[in-house]
Amino acid sequence: MLTIEWSLASGWEKPYIKPLENLSLHPASSSLHYAIELFEGMKAYRGVDGKIRLFRPTLNMDRMARSARRATLPPSLGVKKPTKALLYVILSPVGPYFASGSFNPISLWADPKYVRAWKGGTGDCKLGGNYGSSIYAQQEAMELGCQQVLWLYGEDHQITEVGTMNLFLYWINEDGEYELATPPLDGIILPGVTRQSILDLARNWGEFKVSERYITMSDLTAALEENRVKEMFGAGTACIVCPISKILYKGKHLHIPTMENGPQLTTRFLNKLSDIQYGREDSDWAVLVS
Ligand SMILES: *Cc1c(COP(=O)(O)O)cnc(C)c1O
Repeated sequence: MLTIEWSLASGWEKPYIKPLENLSLHPASSSLHYAIELFEGMKAYRGVDGKIRLFRPTLNMDRMARSARRATLPPSLGVKKPTKALLYVILSPVGPYFASGSFNPISLWADPKYVRAWKGGTGDCKLGGNYGSSIYAQQEAMELGCQQVLWLYGEDHQITEVGTMNLFLYWINEDGEYELATPPLDGIILPGVTRQSILDLARNWGEFKVSERYITMSDLTAALEENRVKEMFGAGTACIVCPISKILYKGKHLHIPTMENGPQLTTRFLNKLSDIQYGREDSDWAVLVS
């Protein structure tokens, strides 16, 4: 096998040819060439009582099973259905993702020229191919001084997800009602465990309307002009919730007043979910690891 290594520090190394080592992942594996690959992201939390908890792990396992079914469909290009698979579980320590006071809002770049997922595609599964193809857009966002991509979809510029997080808007809607809105699971949205948990909590509180509905950029800009936007945030296992303060769209910086509004609701979800994850509050969403 011809092997040439590359690193940022020294660039391409000398090429060398040597027999194929006995690697557990074969370099010709279809996971590398055709991205027949899937992953999950789940955290374990060491609670205030020293016990370790998982958060709704069966939701991750169900999603993993759905991704696996989608990834092993025999595709075209003469690629055969895999006959072997390999499962890795990488255990890596993460510090507490947020220390109180470091609840930093992010800025987003919204441009329809890149699309994260599409109808009939795999955007609703955690398949590697969805992510590799998004890095180029992420880099362009950063060159434009934004931290993450706000993924749009369709001619009407629907708001779908932010980076690799689901998206929530808390606003006064077109009918004058307080509403927490997130796009529906129509095939292009990744069904996040955090997303589901936020919807479950908010529906249980019953204090405002909770909707899985489409939101377009023109809905958002109209609401901003009429001062109807309260908070906007991303949601995912990594950060739990992440407030949004700015969107660069069609060359204009839209200010999102999330931080000016507390952010009350975003903080409430953060506290509620982390209380359950760290064992400050009893909940059947927390599963003890013995
Ligand atoms: C993983 C992921 C999320 C968040 O899912 P969680 O289960 O809440 O961590 C949202 N969007 C995308 C694209 C993702 O890959």
